Amino acid sequence: MTSWTLVIHGGSGSMTRDILSSQDDAAGRAGLAAALAAGAAILREGGSATDAVQAAVEVLEDDPAFNAGRGSVFTAEGHIECDAAIMDGKTMDAGAVAGLRTTRHPVALARAVMADSPHVFLTGAGAEGFARERGIEAVAPSWFETAERRRQLDEILARPDAPFDSGMKYGTVGAVAVDNDGHVAAATSTGGLTGKKWGRVGDSPLIGAGTYADDRAAAVSCTGAGEYFIRLGVAHEICARARLGEWSIEDAADTLIDELGDMGGKGGVIVVSPDGSGGWAFNTPGMYRAMQTHDSDPEIAIYGDE
Ligand code: ASP
Repeated sequence: MTSWTLVIHGGSGSMTRDILSSQDDAAGRAGLAAALAAGAAILREGGSATDAVQAAVEVLEDDPAFNAGRGSVFTAEGHIECDAAIMDGKTMDAGAVAGLRTTRHPVALARAVMADSPHVFLTGAGAEGFARERGIEAVAPSWFETAERRRQLDEILARPDAPFDSGMKYGTVGAVAVDNDGHVAAATSTGGLTGKKWGRVGDSPLIGAGTYADDRAAAVSCTGAGEYFIRLGVAHEICARARLGEWSIEDAADTLIDELGDMGGKGGVIVVSPDGSGGWAFNTPGMYRAMQTHDSDPEIAIYGDE
């Protein structure tokens, strides 16, 4: 019997002690603690890694401090369009959704796509039609909106010549877990990037880019500039190096983040392996992140030097 490990993130980005207010710091840590507790409660009782990552991500989706579900960022046209994915490393089943405007928990819909449909990836109105058929909770689009995200959109629209992802805090959320039976799972949920246009979809819901789980290797959830993660296939690549190259997942994660940086990309990853080891790598000043194992207290951190 293995012993469980849970790692979660609430996005990487330009967070430093100078720029994050003490309220934002406290809100971020409280949100991570609540999500970690929700996932850990399931693992402690012998529940599955898939149930644990979904539970942790749902808590973060409801928390307006993070860019997923409620508190997601706005598109250039002033809408909120959420993306999510989940993958079970035991069966290698996966579900993903993009462009949701009324589904309270995008990760719950990704789980339903995985469990109850013959498909892996549904988008937009079709995905939400499936959600209503399955009885997945709907809310009004205004439920997702916060004044702070509106302000961030206004700021970006006011400087159209600035590089698209300069100075961003990528508040995407994710969770990876290994359960007591040694099975791994990953889930990621996001509003994407502030000011995104033309139905843009990032890496988060793309199986193999922002989310991947394979019992032969690892479970991975990413955050950062999605266009780079997609082109490197980061989540799958970490698993492939662990499986074929016999790298440790820590080395695979560090190397992929180095390669992402060499391309000009910024962000981070969380990883666990079936043997119970877990951790993170990122090349931004900070990343909201937390970890707990069967025999450790919660570890919660934001800044690079923690
Ligand atoms: N990776 C996400 C995306 O590109 C953004 C984030 O991590 O916050 O959509």
